[in-house]
Amino acid sequence: MKVRIDEELCISCGLCSDICPDAFAPREEDGIAVVIATEKELDSLSCVDEAVESCPTEAIIVE
Ligand code: SF4
Repeated sequence: MKVRIDEELCISCGLCSDICPDAFAPREEDGIAVVIATEKELDSLSCVDEAVESCPTEAIIVE
């Protein structure tokens, strides 16, 4: 699974890293979400889909 964050859309709400902390983390300087898991790890994390659906600005892009 290939996932990226659209930094223009991310509002640094922290929801994705709360829901799926193994896949997402807030960037230290501005809270913008970053993907911290490998493509393979993302495949086995069931919380990724929930985070994608929960993002208020649809900033998590599954490619
Ligand atoms: S849930 Fe969406 S808007 Fe909130 S931090 Fe994550 S990517 Fe950004």
